[in-house]
Amino acid sequence: MSELHQNYIAGEWVSGTSEIENRNPSDLTDLVGLFAQASADQLDATLDRARQAQVEWAAYGMERKQAVLMAIGNELMARAEELGTLLSREEGKPIAEGKGEVYRAGQFFTYYAAECLRQLGENADSVRDGVEIDVRREAVGVVAIISPWNFPTATASWKIAPALCYGNAVVWKPANITPASAVALTEIIARQDIPKGLFSLVMGSGRDIGQRLVESPKVNAISFTGSVPVGKGIASAAIQNLTKVQMEMGSKNALAVMDDADIDLAVTLALGGAFGGTGQKCTASSRLIVHSAVHDAFVEKLIAGTKAMKVGHGQEEGTQMGPVVSEQQLNENLAYVDLGKSEGAELACGGVRLEMPHDGYYMSPGVFVNSNNAMRINREEMFAPLTSVIKVDSYEEALTTVNDTNFGLTSGVVTQSLARATHFRRNARTGVVTVNLPTAGTDYHVPFGGRGDSSYGPREQGKAAAEFYTTVKTAYISAGKPF
Ligand code: NDP
Repeated sequence: MSELHQNYIAGEWVSGTSEIENRNPSDLTDLVGLFAQASADQLDATLDRARQAQVEWAAYGMERKQAVLMAIGNELMARAEELGTLLSREEGKPIAEGKGEVYRAGQFFTYYAAECLRQLGENADSVRDGVEIDVRREAVGVVAIISPWNFPTATASWKIAPALCYGNAVVWKPANITPASAVALTEIIARQDIPKGLFSLVMGSGRDIGQRLVESPKVNAISFTGSVPVGKGIASAAIQNLTKVQMEMGSKNALAVMDDADIDLAVTLALGGAFGGTGQKCTASSRLIVHSAVHDAFVEKLIAGTKAMKVGHGQEEGTQMGPVVSEQQLNENLAYVDLGKSEGAELACGGVRLEMPHDGYYMSPGVFVNSNNAMRINREEMFAPLTSVIKVDSYEEALTTVNDTNFGLTSGVVTQSLARATHFRRNARTGVVTVNLPTAGTDYHVPFGGRGDSSYGPREQGKAAAEFYTTVKTAYISAGKPF
């Protein structure tokens, strides 16, 4: 019998009303564990306790908070191999990617540990004689964090670390597909010197426990990463209570390959950007916009590189691309393959379900060619190991095509021209722009977020996170009687 992993509610590990099984998408016979589903009463109890704990935490000295965040970060980095393997087991990504993700999650905590000591305010003279002004940031209060399954440890950490750094309490609802990573991270946080109930883990479905969490007037701010429809629903719920909200959602990122590009570099960037994480990244290169002068050479090498990718069990040596996370996601991906073909795009390779020695959700990475930007496969986020090549005849047409989307998270250009790179950086309508680099892969000390349907609310990461996790207080001070 597999161990039941519990929720962490109001400072105690507790069972829920029911439990779910979590299985390895690389091998469905591998049961990762059983995970408790929190009840509505448990959620309410933890929200009440969080409010009280937040006041205690805000009063901790900054070095005490720093020590907590540093310890969490150091433990994540030290255990990256072990926890990365667990992450790989429940999400399907190769161990190297899982390990890299856990290590990066540790870096979010150590970065924000240092930020605990760097919270400077501003001061000013008043327009009134004898009056001084002090402007400082204070915690928002109780923050609800709703995270996705594709980067279950990193995405949660880039929200939890700044939330704690700036003095907030956290109630975390992870994606129900990846609860094991959530329990592992919670075990580390729960062992620290924090007030009882400051940090809670409430596992359960988004529809039930997630919806109740975002509708609660006891929550002061909601940070969400996931799909656009769910994000819009959360925004509607949040506005009823005037709850602060920050959302990172889908995208349709483009990599523009120009006629002066280094083709081998462009192909390497496209392959990594399109198929890393099995294409299940909000920063994935799902549109490859290629100048006609290099189109055929690029496509030939892209197809050869795609066919050479080793798809396999996430925990086996040599696997470059693991399975898709779930049966539902796999079925949606295969439906997009059919849709692309029916829209007139040509499937040059891959895009089919694979039979493997282990029963899992495997498919081959797929490339569409002869596609155009009006097709739904080039307008909707597929979250699949699928990418489309769109041929263009000029840099100007490439830029127009890059910007012709409802989304706006990342975009990239591959060029050896400084003039084009500069123009692209300034005119691509995305929150992140890359030059001769993949559209995926960002740093933790600078802002992350997009435009259009990709993001809503203040940016995440780096110092920009303070905008969401704090509220500004302006104090006017008079010495009283003249000296
Ligand atoms: P969802 O948007 O459904 O899930 C994201 C998170 O929101 C999960 O924790 C989920 O919980 C939770 N959630 C779901 N419904 C609600 C709700 N009503 N109230 C509060 N929380 C809720 O994404 P999916 O996992 O279903 O993936 C679907 C698609 O979304 C993908 O194919 C992809 O296109 C996009 N996506 C984008 C991501 C990104 O990084 N931008 C990340 C993940 C998905 P639970 O899973 O337990 O139901």
